[in-house]
Amino acid sequence: MRERRHLLLWTICLTLAIALTSLRAQAPRDPVKVVASFSILGDFVRNVGGDRVQVTTLVGPDGDVHVYTPAPADARKIAGAKLLVVNGLGLEGWLPRLLQASGGKAPILNATNRIAPLKLGAVSDPHAWQSVTNAKQYVVNIRDALVAASPADAEVFRKNAETYLAKLDVLDRDVQQAVAQIPQGRRKVISTHDAFGYFAARYGIQFIAPLGVSTETEASAKDIARLVAQIRAEKIPAVFLEKMSDPRLIRQVAAETGARIGGTLDSDSLTDEKGDAPTYIDMVRHNIRVLTSALVD
Ligand SMILES: [Zn+2]
Repeated sequence: MRERRHLLLWTICLTLAIALTSLRAQAPRDPVKVVASFSILGDFVRNVGGDRVQVTTLVGPDGDVHVYTPAPADARKIAGAKLLVVNGLGLEGWLPRLLQASGGKAPILNATNRIAPLKLGAVSDPHAWQSVTNAKQYVVNIRDALVAASPADAEVFRKNAETYLAKLDVLDRDVQQAVAQIPQGRRKVISTHDAFGYFAARYGIQFIAPLGVSTETEASAKDIARLVAQIRAEKIPAVFLEKMSDPRLIRQVAAETGARIGGTLDSDSLTDEKGDAPTYIDMVRHNIRVLTSALVD
């Protein structure tokens, strides 16, 4: 009788131990910690990583990635990350010092790998994300880097990327169709800084900007005079503001030429949830709405 009770006890213990072990095997792993340099990259990482990543962005919504001043907390974020995603092409000029301060050893992904950069003189134009075709390459690069960072989640990352890439295909077609509605002679606009070179190259709208590829510089009186002359000579129908940049420059140009102010474009940053561009796809759709509503007759 006693022996039977012993045996029963042993069986119960063994069953419990096996159950616990298998439970532990199925317990969710911690999500992969990823730091993205600015909000648009953060959105790409979220779409590919889903709930298997924990994303932090250094330059958040509505921030200007060209002129960012890193905080000590940023160095700590990077030190604890499994992957750091940056744009490259000279966008994050403040990054090398931050990396030095962080001492982090996380692998760094240049999300513009395998994208042929546009050149403005000797300088690379960093705004490659403004072409949706390029955005797809960003997503592929991010997918591969996440798979390398956490091979156990490879299936999830591949599936999420496939879904998101299909959405970007639809977006790319929609932009092309929207531009096709704009009369050929009206596909010329003025924006504040040279952020739309890749958009222009892909979709065939000409952008002219008084500032260069960075918001760091200021337009000279000569730059503005040249721009005003160009708007008059080429009968450019509309000028556009950008959220990050000082609107006075574009307002002055509009006043001097009679060109209408077409609205505000989102170039280098997403907005918060309440804004018009909380995601990359929202941003591109917002921009194309603003452009077509000003340029279609
Ligand atoms: Zn920019």
